[in-house]
Amino acid sequence: MIVVMAAHATEIEIKDVEQRIVDWGYGVHPIYGTERTVIGAVGVPEADKARYMESLESLPYVEQVIGILRPYKFASREYHPEGTVIDVKGVKVGGNHIALMAGPCTVETYEQTWESAVACKAAGATILRGGAYKPSTSPYSFQGHGVEALKILKDIADKLDMRVITEVMDLRNIELVSQYADILQIGTRNMQNYDLLRELGKIQTPVMIKRGMSAKIEEWLQAAEYVLLGGNRNVMLCERGIRTFESYTRNTLDLSAVPAIKELSHLPIVVDPSQGTGKRSLVIAMTKAAVAVGADGLLIEVHPHPDQALKDGAQSLTCEHFGQLVEELKPIATAVGRSI
Ligand code: PEP
Ligand code: MN
Repeated sequence: MIVVMAAHATEIEIKDVEQRIVDWGYGVHPIYGTERTVIGAVGVPEADKARYMESLESLPYVEQVIGILRPYKFASREYHPEGTVIDVKGVKVGGNHIALMAGPCTVETYEQTWESAVACKAAGATILRGGAYKPSTSPYSFQGHGVEALKILKDIADKLDMRVITEVMDLRNIELVSQYADILQIGTRNMQNYDLLRELGKIQTPVMIKRGMSAKIEEWLQAAEYVLLGGNRNVMLCERGIRTFESYTRNTLDLSAVPAIKELSHLPIVVDPSQGTGKRSLVIAMTKAAVAVGADGLLIEVHPHPDQALKDGAQSLTCEHFGQLVEELKPIATAVGRSI
């Protein structure tokens, strides 16, 4: 359940409610907001819940008690109605400004990453993407340059004052990747790797959870719940397309997930039209649509020479395309009350 304290509730009254909840055997997870405090109570005892809710609701310093029937609580909109803004070392994800994350699918060489990063930065991107550990369907295809790639990403991002987002695939690598990355990307193939998610709950590095290619929105939010429950509140989601019967596109980019997530959750939602379509010719239109439906961030693959890319060249924008796209996004963002 979620206890919304009255705006006038004092610190002592807040502590009193927390103590009652603890005494009943719940875990207490407060958010001390500027306007009011919201206290999340999770764990057992479901049987007595109605009675506890009533008793809290009768307190004059409690405004409302909400019982959550959904299988996720910390990820639910009720827990944080104003929406979460994640501070990535000064770059915000969530809130009014749309965060631009761009760069190559994979770090191939220093020069290739540098060229892409310079163009992305010039166009307005603040977060550099690039794969160091690549999840590949085929064991014969390129698996990424690992630590070497992490070093390249960090070096370039530092020089350009950008942040780094890169994928972590294995829980044994969380510490290593966190030394170089500012956001840990959980790939579509790992959305249900619960051991990995649990470990990510123990750190404070921001995490972006991509939607599993066959995951329902509810399952995706439960994946986020694993990380949130562990204590890491810096979680964002990324819609990257789901698997359907359609084969013209690589995936079917489910843009209805964006407003759906906004209804159900307070977590920032990023859209990846690159994996989402698999086709350069469709990326631009779908990016515009993503902004129109309310995406909080965009994750876009940009390569200086897509025809020579080791991975995902067909869906990578050239540096010029990307610059042009960002210009075209600006009036759309303005039209929906956002900035980019
Ligand atoms: C990627 O961003 O390059 C990637 C591999 O993403 P996904 O996990 O969505 O396939
Ligand atoms: Mn890719």
